[in-house]
Amino acid sequence: HIDIADGVDHQVAMVMDLNKCIGCQTCTVACKTLWTEGGGRDYMYWNNVETKPGEGYPKGWEDSGGGWQSDEHGERQPGEIPAKERYGGDWEFNHSDIMYDGSDEPLRPQNVDPEWGPNWDEDQGAGEYPNSYYFYLPRICNHCTHPSCVEACPRQALYKREEDGIVLVDQERCRGYRYCVEGCPYKKVYYNAAKKKSEKCIFCYPRIEGEGPDDEIHATACAEECPPQLRLVGYLDDEDGPIYKLVEEYEVALPLHPEFETVPNVYYIPPYAPPGHSEDGESIEGVDRIPRDYLEELFGDRVNEALDTIERHRERVSRGEDSELMEMLQDKNPAQQYRLGVF
Ligand code: SF4
Repeated sequence: HIDIADGVDHQVAMVMDLNKCIGCQTCTVACKTLWTEGGGRDYMYWNNVETKPGEGYPKGWEDSGGGWQSDEHGERQPGEIPAKERYGGDWEFNHSDIMYDGSDEPLRPQNVDPEWGPNWDEDQGAGEYPNSYYFYLPRICNHCTHPSCVEACPRQALYKREEDGIVLVDQERCRGYRYCVEGCPYKKVYYNAAKKKSEKCIFCYPRIEGEGPDDEIHATACAEECPPQLRLVGYLDDEDGPIYKLVEEYEVALPLHPEFETVPNVYYIPPYAPPGHSEDGESIEGVDRIPRDYLEELFGDRVNEALDTIERHRERVSRGEDSELMEMLQDKNPAQQYRLGVF
């Protein structure tokens, strides 16, 4: 299934294992402090972790249009530029009253009476007790093989790098028209109103080129800082690497919303849920705690086969047999995780 864009030598890719995400937002903070602190970037999260099911960030991005019509990369789908409020707002909390002045008021925003914010869905979850559920979905730009943001720009300011397929905005060419914001169905291009330019995740290209800390090649900051180490970073076309095996051989790593037709290069191991259970705690075989139809909405039909494959390999390990797949999913060895510079 791997699809490398014409004119691109190799394609960087990422696999994120959703079974490991604890929603700690360390990746978000790592990205924010490295790339988007201040200067018109305050509201931007090139990396965000949202709660699913939920509205995400920006709110309702999944219904914002963009991408391609589903007739084999024909016409682009019209899209929206999300209004500012859909990215959340500034909430001032009574931290100092509580921490330093002995107030016994609850901790809550003081300047607004919010009705929504990123991760708002966190406490609510979905499903009916005792089978309620939620999970976390970390998101960056997908550095798509067929990026609708690139096509949308009338000035060719967005482009895919020949050497590794990273999608960048040429800041000299950009005039801030925001067709790219409209065109990306994942809403992962942001408008910097201070600079009047568009900006986006750069897949930490200086780090993967060896300009990271200690002048060595480093993975993206979001991957390296992640406490449960759920992100694999490497090249999609590195046939000895785990990304190729998970995507192409085992077919357990899937793109998000494949129906947008941009052919993402960020892949997800879908969340593996226990069976549902009754109020007296008995497992109900054949009923998944996370409904398959919801996972199909996110990852398409192939999610069923992917989860069945993971299940088969789990059973194999519990019988004491070997499984390269389970070893790859469990391995925390950075040499496996960050196969950069292999070409
Ligand atoms: Fe462009 Fe959006 Fe794809 Fe990133 S996710 S390459 S911004 S279309």
